[in-house]
Amino acid sequence: MLEGHTMEEVLIVRFSEIALKSPRIRRWMISRLRKNLEDALKAAEVGGRVEEKWERIYIWTEDVKKASEAAGRVFGVRSLSPAVAYEYMDLEDLIEKAATWAEECVRGRKFAVRARRDKDLPFTSMDIMVKLGERLKPLGEVDLTSPQVTVNVEVRGRVVYLFSEVLEGPGGLPLGTQGRALSLLSGGFDSAVSSWYVMRRGVELDYVTFSLAGPLQMRDALLVAGVLSSHWSHGYRPTLHLVDFSGVLDEIERVVQAPLRGVVLRHLFYRAAEMIADEEGHLSLVTGESLGQVSSQTLSNLSAASAGIGLPILRPLIGMDKEEIIGKAREIGTAELSEKVVEYCAIARGSSINLSRERFIQVLKNMNLRVLEEAVEGRWKVKLPDGAPGALSEIESRIESWRYRGDEGEDVVRVNYGKGVQVVTPNGFPLTGRELKRALKGLKGGEGVHRLPRGFTYVFSCPTGGWAVRMVSLLRSLGYDAYYSH
Ligand code: ATP
Ligand code: MG
Repeated sequence: MLEGHTMEEVLIVRFSEIALKSPRIRRWMISRLRKNLEDALKAAEVGGRVEEKWERIYIWTEDVKKASEAAGRVFGVRSLSPAVAYEYMDLEDLIEKAATWAEECVRGRKFAVRARRDKDLPFTSMDIMVKLGERLKPLGEVDLTSPQVTVNVEVRGRVVYLFSEVLEGPGGLPLGTQGRALSLLSGGFDSAVSSWYVMRRGVELDYVTFSLAGPLQMRDALLVAGVLSSHWSHGYRPTLHLVDFSGVLDEIERVVQAPLRGVVLRHLFYRAAEMIADEEGHLSLVTGESLGQVSSQTLSNLSAASAGIGLPILRPLIGMDKEEIIGKAREIGTAELSEKVVEYCAIARGSSINLSRERFIQVLKNMNLRVLEEAVEGRWKVKLPDGAPGALSEIESRIESWRYRGDEGEDVVRVNYGKGVQVVTPNGFPLTGRELKRALKGLKGGEGVHRLPRGFTYVFSCPTGGWAVRMVSLLRSLGYDAYYSH
């Protein structure tokens, strides 16, 4: 901060709506913004000092470029300007310093000068603009309507700041000024973008992923949550809750007719998320739903699925088109990961009929919701970003060790779920195809275990991988030798 120096590089940070708040709130929000900026600089390994003032925040650093990249991902920042700061003695000295700095910028170009200053100074902004404009006129052409370069002069007390660039920040409010919420994150485009929009309004977000395909979906979500936390959560360390939903899917398949399953699954997502939110103190849920995007997101199905949910559900994408959402995902850096994510589960993918609330509540009455509690209780909590590498390698190794790499040996039973279930059994396998299917079906209820022969290797495949991985998980938990293959 110019202690003993005559010139120093600095990043000027302007804030967005904070400036409209009452003095008390404004001071509190600026202070939180400063902390978040400090956290962002630390994460980017940029040394520097963040100075908080009423009008602006100044980041005094030797690496202004790296600092502006980091600060450009902090919510509450409206814009940024890499600048130089000088101490000046009087107006003449100020003009001299500004002219020397600006010479190279304006040479041979159309330029404008803009100035701002503290009210209590003995000269006006107009004085600065006129005098500096005159000094620079011989070097270029003054053009106030469409300049190629603008020389900006800001005078605060004894210090003058000079800059020509204004970079856009993400806007919004500082993270941590609007409480905490729980975002339902699938790994797809929508839930990543909806999380971003809610964080942008100052909400600290944790995440929950309901794994419909064992470790496959966990990996997708972990990678996306990793980007959201390392790029956009400065000032907060989120937790990702990974919930194995296979038991819940089994219960849905047991009780609910196919066309209703999508809406029931959605409701159970909310229910499970609400249990976590109650336990962890979240004020609200967040989803990436957009009205009418798919048949389970019609207004009547969203209304039915929300029946009985006490917490507010924030849906920041409700009025957005898919193209806009994907465009935003590219900007925030999650698109590349989401592109690779497939919808693993046929229930989540399938079409839904429109359902009234009354009918929906009837359907739910037949379900045993104990499975939901068990899933939530058994969840795996990953602290981001530090816990991500460890969790990822654990998930990866599970995925790898479940993948079938053997040859078509004698003792391999192949089960392929495409259009219906097809099976290929080896010589000496004691069941017919039909008996095998029945035994597999019975596994979930426990009866099939007695009928399904041991001593064979079971290999499952399906178009998206979700069903196959769930079968592998189930058989392995019962002590069978089981793998999935593509
Ligand atoms: P996304 O792009 O976020 O996957 P989508 O277009 O695939 O959304 P749906 O699958 O209907 O739409 O999901 C709508 C919302 O429900 C998601 O944005 C997300 O908030 C939540 N959601 C869906 N699947 C899961 C899941 N497996 N775990 C957690 N949340 C989920
Ligand atoms: Mg999805």
